[in-house]
Amino acid sequence: MELRNCRRCGFLFRFKGYYVCPNCQALDERDFQVVKEYLRNHPRASTVEVSKDTGVDASVVNRFLREGRLRAEGYQGTDGMLSCDACGTAINQGRYCEKCLATLQQELKRASAGLRQAQENRGKVHTIKSIKDKF
Ligand SMILES: [Zn+2]
Ligand SMILES: [Zn+2]
Repeated sequence: MELRNCRRCGFLFRFKGYYVCPNCQALDERDFQVVKEYLRNHPRASTVEVSKDTGVDASVVNRFLREGRLRAEGYQGTDGMLSCDACGTAINQGRYCEKCLATLQQELKRASAGLRQAQENRGKVHTIKSIKDKF
């Protein structure tokens, strides 16, 4: 038995060759049909256009591409093939474009700085408390 996280909702489920949990499977299948149908009429559409015109999230279209499901339908994606999960810009690799990656890294840095600050503050409080305890 193999447990995996659902690629749509993150729910842990028993893996049976399908990447999403049973709850999301119908939703995923519907998205796939919508995208497939759209590509039949727009075989050269970029992932961004597919996402915009079908309303299916770009990250979902990207996943269909990564899983090879759309390739089986004859869709290769466009030049970039992938699009940024955050803003939809065409990219060649990874999940985010350079701009979003920079933003994410900055946020990460800020978050860890905030964490460090909180730890320092806790340290101070601790020190004051231990001084008070002495008296
Ligand atoms: Zn799910
Ligand atoms: Zn982006």
